[in-house]
Amino acid sequence: MTTDSTSKNEILFARAQQSTPGGVNSPVRAFRSVGGTPRFITRAEGPYFWDADGKRYIDYIGSWGPAIVGHAHPQVIKAVQAAAANGLSFGAPTEGEIEIAEEICRLLPSIEQVRLVSSGTEATMSALRLARGATGRDKIVKFEGCYHGHADSLLVKAGSGLLTFGNPTSAGVPEDFVKHTLVLDYNNIPQLEDAFASMGDTIACVIVEPVAGNMNLIRATPEFLQRMRELCTEYGTVLIFDEVMCGFRVGLGGAQELYGITPDLTALGKVIGGGLPVAAFGGRADLMQKMAPIGPVYQAGTLSGNPVAVAAGMSTLKLIQEPGFYERLGAAAQRLVDGLTEAATEAGIPFCGDAVGGMFGFYFNHDIPSTYGQMMAGDKERFNRFFHGMLDEGVYFAPAMFEAGFVSAQHTDAVIDETVEAARRVFKRIG
Ligand SMILES: *Cc1c(COP(=O)(O)O)cnc(C)c1O
Repeated sequence: MTTDSTSKNEILFARAQQSTPGGVNSPVRAFRSVGGTPRFITRAEGPYFWDADGKRYIDYIGSWGPAIVGHAHPQVIKAVQAAAANGLSFGAPTEGEIEIAEEICRLLPSIEQVRLVSSGTEATMSALRLARGATGRDKIVKFEGCYHGHADSLLVKAGSGLLTFGNPTSAGVPEDFVKHTLVLDYNNIPQLEDAFASMGDTIACVIVEPVAGNMNLIRATPEFLQRMRELCTEYGTVLIFDEVMCGFRVGLGGAQELYGITPDLTALGKVIGGGLPVAAFGGRADLMQKMAPIGPVYQAGTLSGNPVAVAAGMSTLKLIQEPGFYERLGAAAQRLVDGLTEAATEAGIPFCGDAVGGMFGFYFNHDIPSTYGQMMAGDKERFNRFFHGMLDEGVYFAPAMFEAGFVSAQHTDAVIDETVEAARRVFKRIG
């Protein structure tokens, strides 16, 4: 079904599968959902990257979010080179870690103290442990379609009955590890109220993507997050915003600023590393003071706060504070979504799109979805044909219908318009 015209990519993919399961180090990269051959990337600059055959693509993944200032931004590269020249890792504290921690606390007022880790998975896993340690409770609540990394107790889907505990979504996760995880529907307030009414005083935390980007793009309704905040406060439950994706992406103050809601803890990642492995969790000081070495909740990392990674993150955090940065980013995402929708409509294809700051989603549905189920009802077969059509045209969207997309500050009007023109041709072919 694909029209991939690959040669080196195919050779590399065949070779990769010999030494690595599925040929990739993170499953979505293998193109299993869309079929065809993954592109092996050789270099990237601004809004573009190039594959092993030398073909150029307009990139709408941006490393799944980190490349917000565009790939290989000269200031970020310079900061990384300068840091690397002083040594790669010391296993002892550095001033750079203080600087980035101070910057995160300044930009997100709900974060009074923060701990740096190396991946979003670690950030959410540690926030969860902290919530359990601080409350002395075991149960946690998550929502269907939200992704929080691959910690055992978070790889769960809803159980068969309402308010029954979840089933593992991965082999190797014991039932015992997920029996404390309750999985509820996103944006469903009555269900959340029922859960708290029946077991609120045993729930350690609620973890949520306040703007969901792992079931395509789905916004939480303000009422849903507001009610969640009220219930957590009432029952002494820790509210964790997983802003690994939406933090510094939907706006400088993240989703918490956008919605005006203060979580107890926040998980960060992606943008704060600027393309190198930095993630973090932080929040109320009284909670964070429960972390080792001063508190009883253990967590550690050999490369946590790595000086080179922190330099990339810090220089990225500076660039996103330039005047008008998020206005331009948001305008680019909106221009893309509007252009795609217009082109699809011309071709008579049911299609709609949404954007929040520099994050966007498009759906082969009649209406913008607000739940996982609505999103999954989209026309996946048509998405796959669109994906491959665009790939042939030199535009790289996420290789799965249930992923959000990302623009960078280097996605100029000309780049967006070139994308929309390509989409116009592709929609005609798949209409
Ligand atoms: C990407 C992501 C994670 C996991 O981060 P990794 O760095 O891939 O471990 C967690 N939560 C959300 C919302 C994410 O988008």
